[in-house]
Amino acid sequence: MTRRLLAALAPLTFVVAADPALAAPQHAPATPVAVTWRPSSPHIGDVAIVRVDGPGDGASVEGAVGGRPLAFFRDGRGYAALVGFDLELKPIHEAWWVEVREAERPLRQVRGRLRVRGRDFPVQRLTLPGGLVNLDPDTEQRAVAEARALQAVYRSITAERLWRGAFVRPVGGEEPGSGFGARRIINNQPRSPHGGTDYAAPRGTPVVSANDGHVALVAEYFFPGRLVVVDHGLGLYTLYFHLDEVHTAVGERVARGQPIGSVGSTGRATGPHLHFGVQLGGARVDPERLLALPALD
Ligand SMILES: [Zn+2]
Repeated sequence: MTRRLLAALAPLTFVVAADPALAAPQHAPATPVAVTWRPSSPHIGDVAIVRVDGPGDGASVEGAVGGRPLAFFRDGRGYAALVGFDLELKPIHEAWWVEVREAERPLRQVRGRLRVRGRDFPVQRLTLPGGLVNLDPDTEQRAVAEARALQAVYRSITAERLWRGAFVRPVGGEEPGSGFGARRIINNQPRSPHGGTDYAAPRGTPVVSANDGHVALVAEYFFPGRLVVVDHGLGLYTLYFHLDEVHTAVGERVARGQPIGSVGSTGRATGPHLHFGVQLGGARVDPERLLALPALD
């Protein structure tokens, strides 16, 4: 591995000690706060972990990147948040800040800038029956209403983290998913990019929840077909589209690896496969990046 590549993979850490001049005499000595981004320079479509080490139990940790709030949770080591970089975000330097409040201690704030890098996505040309592409006005209206309903689900934030450990593949097999971010040209017309990854699998193959959560939506929509959306808390959702059968219901608690349905080709699908999507803080991110995260307790 080259030195440059190693440097790119190394996490970026910012450390700040509270300014003693700001501390009133009765304040306990403040431990330094270290903020680490992994990866240190994420690509669009990535899931990054921002870690805040130093504050003890009961601290209030808040922050934002590019104006989007960070949802911190406590884990074994300190405080952490998952951050999504939408697949259509422009490569840019984004400003971030983290603020730590602890009883009897001065407020501590760390600021920085994060380089968000671009990524080349493949171009996918598809030919589909005209009726699935050029919609009649009623179907168009239905598809728009359904897209809005999905957005409303993704935008609602459950304040509690429901997931633990590592995320698992929603279907068996070894073949990686394909097509995330593909710029799609359907019947020679440019369409919105592919927001998830597709796993080819025979009809009826069990589909499992990628982690613990509760079922936020079960529906049958024009494009996604029969679908399940699982809410993992703190703005993280996993999406399972084109299902043949659904074996869960809205509001049900599901565990990591629990069957929630089976692979099908309902909705706009050229054959049986699972479309697996991930929404994080409203960003469409690469599901493979979520599956590759280290286990967090
Ligand atoms: Zn798909």
